[in-house]
Amino acid sequence: MHINQQILFLFTIFLFSFSHAHTLKKVTLQLQWKHQFEFAGFYMAKEKGFYEDIGLDIDIKEWNYNINSVDSLIDQKSQYAILRPTSLIDISKGKKLIYLAAIYQSSPLVFLADKSSGIKTIKDFKNKKVMTTPNHNSDASIISMLFSQGIKLEDLTIIKHSFNVKDLLNRKTDLMASYISNEPFILNRLGGKPVIFNPRDYGFDFYNDILATSKNYYDQNKEEVKEFREATLKGWEYAFNNIKESVKLIQKKYNSQNKTKESLLYEANELKKLAYYQTNKVGTIDIEKLDNIYNIYKLLGLVKGQIDFNKVVPFNDSSKLYLNKEEKDYIEKTSLIKTCIIPQKPFEFLENGVYKGMITDYFNIFEKKLGTKFFPVKVQSKKQALEYIEEKKCELFPFFVDKKKKENIKVTDSYLKLPLVLATKIDIPFLSSIENLKNKTIGIPKNHSYMQLLKKHYPYLNFIYINNDVKEGLKKVSDDELYGYIDTLPAISSSIQENYIGELKITGKIFNDLDVSFAVRDDNNLLFSILQKSINTIDSNQKKEIFNRWVSVKYEKSVNYTLAWQLAFVTLLIFIVFLYWNRKLKKANCKLSLAKKRLEQLAITDRLTNIYNRHKLDEVLKSERLRSDRYNYKFGLIIFDIDYFKKVNDIYGHHIGDVVLQEFAYILKSNSRRTDTVGRWGGEEFIIIVPHTNKERLLIFAKHLKDLIEGYNFTKAQKITASIGVTIFKKEDSVESFVSRADNALYKSKKTGRNKVTFF
Ligand code: GH3
Ligand code: MG
Ligand code: MG
Repeated sequence: MHINQQILFLFTIFLFSFSHAHTLKKVTLQLQWKHQFEFAGFYMAKEKGFYEDIGLDIDIKEWNYNINSVDSLIDQKSQYAILRPTSLIDISKGKKLIYLAAIYQSSPLVFLADKSSGIKTIKDFKNKKVMTTPNHNSDASIISMLFSQGIKLEDLTIIKHSFNVKDLLNRKTDLMASYISNEPFILNRLGGKPVIFNPRDYGFDFYNDILATSKNYYDQNKEEVKEFREATLKGWEYAFNNIKESVKLIQKKYNSQNKTKESLLYEANELKKLAYYQTNKVGTIDIEKLDNIYNIYKLLGLVKGQIDFNKVVPFNDSSKLYLNKEEKDYIEKTSLIKTCIIPQKPFEFLENGVYKGMITDYFNIFEKKLGTKFFPVKVQSKKQALEYIEEKKCELFPFFVDKKKKENIKVTDSYLKLPLVLATKIDIPFLSSIENLKNKTIGIPKNHSYMQLLKKHYPYLNFIYINNDVKEGLKKVSDDELYGYIDTLPAISSSIQENYIGELKITGKIFNDLDVSFAVRDDNNLLFSILQKSINTIDSNQKKEIFNRWVSVKYEKSVNYTLAWQLAFVTLLIFIVFLYWNRKLKKANCKLSLAKKRLEQLAITDRLTNIYNRHKLDEVLKSERLRSDRYNYKFGLIIFDIDYFKKVNDIYGHHIGDVVLQEFAYILKSNSRRTDTVGRWGGEEFIIIVPHTNKERLLIFAKHLKDLIEGYNFTKAQKITASIGVTIFKKEDSVESFVSRADNALYKSKKTGRNKVTFF
């Protein structure tokens, strides 16, 4: 390049960047704490020019005690802010906020003690000194954890937070509300031994660091907000994938706290775990989870009323339907999609010449999104529906519930979950366990092949097939020909309401729910993918709404939901007791201990699979060790890790992965003895602790389970195997050495081909 040209070139670049800088819009992001890795994604998005690319010049502002982040948004002092989940309280008070992304899927907030304090369990918190912020609003997750273990605030001596970890060592305090990503590291450095109490281990999973803006700002800058969100998440992906580089940048430009490189690296790794906890995308916000958090707040007395979270969370990435060209063409030329239906209340039925019902509601939503019509073609049975599909008399069947694959048929993900319930005479007591039905005659619908599942799960019960449908089944109950009748909740509740109010009732819920899917001809790939995409656009709130519209009987819903409510309910009880403690101590005592029991139950249960959680397993391991010491008795450990489970998630999605985990847990649980402790160790790892056993018996049991797993037809994934490690407790063992020996055995099973049992 000629020298003059070069100068001209540089000059042009200079001019260009100069003028470019002037076109950037200035916006402010308010942080919720001082600079640290916690906010690395924003620094990186700025540094890498992601914000500049969308025309923004961002000012990242540190937090100080004079700043109220919510108000700074409302007053438009800042356009964006990082909020705590307690901002739900502000929303419930009418402040109009928009949530854009939740950076941490699980809150970093924990209680920290030093080992020297002797505090081992939450029960040991009694009469201890605790540093926490004065208003427990901000600490709802850790407060809930205390309540769940029967500890009340007045059991503690609460002192003002010094944010000085040394105070744990010089005993100014016994416990400290801390960030898992910061204080444990410092304590370690100071020579202490951190003991951490994490709400997550007790089932309280709160979001933290929610990126938000005000509704006002959002309404006026929709496009910018959307781009800002995307640029930010890109920054986060970058920061977590380039931790060292991010730490360097923080040390160079944002190190107002003078953190060391090591402490920043520690923070980064801890936070990365929280950001990707149960998700593979930074920033995910799940409305149902938000709802659960809100319910816990509600019952802690912190919020009132309902919030429509669909309005608070506009970037529910999934709500929009994107069809590709072929799919669009298909819709264009198919103005009517013929749909086989078996008319039944409240799913799909004719009333005054119009189709109505739960499934019809789904079709109505799809019709709006797709701009096409689903045209009902009446059939008598599922068998006929499948024949019609084969003969092209209809294109799909919306009530497919078989788990097994069928020839010539393709089945979408489930869009509707139907609880199975038992209906009996009204004076029968509520059924806590289906075992109590032994020797009783129970009707089940013959046409539904899913009912064979019931036979499989409960071989010792006396089931009788009912030919027609729910009407005939309930009539037989009413005529005392049957003790009870099992069918889907909507079908039973609708039929009871029509004919048997005051005579029959729903008495219990039967294991897992029925998953309803669309079935299409297996060469109809376009309709299949269109339906699949349509299903994905419907969020859980919408599903709930449709369900509730057609089912008015109260009952206990699916596992997670029930848990959240029980939890909320029990928390409420405890909270009420807590409020009126002085006045109503005596009256409340009985209620409290009941409530406490329920909460304790919840705190040891894994939410997804409903078997014991890690916390409980740890406790049982400890107590078995003591017993074995004292009474010289043998107990064993079986540890399972599902083979190639990532593939299940990758191929069928996380949701199906979850279902497989539930089924896996079910197999272990239903084939173990009452004295065995069956629990989820983490992810896709499970443990059974077997008391009073020896090597031979333990191996037989483990192999039996291996075969059962191998032979089971899992939802979608069908065939799944697990690698298994087995060991027996030895005199010189600690809990750690015991578990690690089983783990090594498991590892050997993996190394030597998987689907194996190894004893060490
Ligand atoms: P292998 O054990 O045979 O070596 O292979 P793997 O694919 O099972 O590997 P690994 O144990 O490393 O992966 C476990 C995966 O389990 C990773 C994670 O995505 C998934 N997982 C963990 N917890 C959950 C959960 O709660 N739900 C779902 N759907 N997936 C989970
Ligand atoms: Mg694993
Ligand atoms: Mg695995």
